[in-house]
Amino acid sequence: MNKELRKAVIAGNWKMNKTPLETAELINELKPLVKDADCDVVVCVPYVDLQTALYCAENTNIKVAAQNCHWETSGAYTGEISTTMLKEMGVEYVVTGHSERRTYFGDTDITVQKRTRAALDAGMTVILCIGEYLEQREQNITFEVVSMQTKIALEGVKEEELDRVIIAYEPVWAIGTGKTATAEQANEVNKFIRELIAELYSPEAADKFVVQYGGSMNAQNAEELLAQPDVDGGLIGGASLKVADFATIVKAASK
Ligand code: PEP
Repeated sequence: MNKELRKAVIAGNWKMNKTPLETAELINELKPLVKDADCDVVVCVPYVDLQTALYCAENTNIKVAAQNCHWETSGAYTGEISTTMLKEMGVEYVVTGHSERRTYFGDTDITVQKRTRAALDAGMTVILCIGEYLEQREQNITFEVVSMQTKIALEGVKEEELDRVIIAYEPVWAIGTGKTATAEQANEVNKFIRELIAELYSPEAADKFVVQYGGSMNAQNAEELLAQPDVDGGLIGGASLKVADFATIVKAASK
């Protein structure tokens, strides 16, 4: 497997943080700090911040993502946002299957599959989140869980669409808890996901496929995690809200 074939992606998941005004402040501070990054830089912002984020990130190397999307293009789905709406705004990236959506808002492997399909059909790039709960890790079924989540989410996704799919392996026990997976634990699962992509598609597709790690990645531990052969970037929650820390992680991914 060849890491040179992949460009790392560092994505900040702001979750339900930052108003539009704060969004402008953060992105304007971030811009000069990441302008020479040798990795892709994405900010995943709340829906109401998208317009501001797109405006502030225009003509920069910062890409803007939504944190979710519905699978229908329009209809009676109060409170939901479609890929048609996102695309018209100019949003090119979207997160699907974040564990907070799965845990608190009833997202299932099937709805994650439908959201992923809708985003790909709209021409968007998807950051697809998968990962096991602590109980599942303790039962030694991590590989079964991530395998099932990946297979269901990618059902019907063609090999030629894979350059618009990024998988973020996020062990749920490490998200927002300050408990990071060790570099070995992260790499072990990321490697497993890559092997699964090779099995489902082809070794060539797997070599090019970006698998991020997410779960309490921060300015201190990023370098070690990102140095792992199968860790192609990170999905970063808490630390992405601190400009200097996020920029340090981007720098670590650019080495
Ligand atoms: C996340 O929101 O995807 C995440 C990994 O959060 P944190 O970095 O805060 O654990």
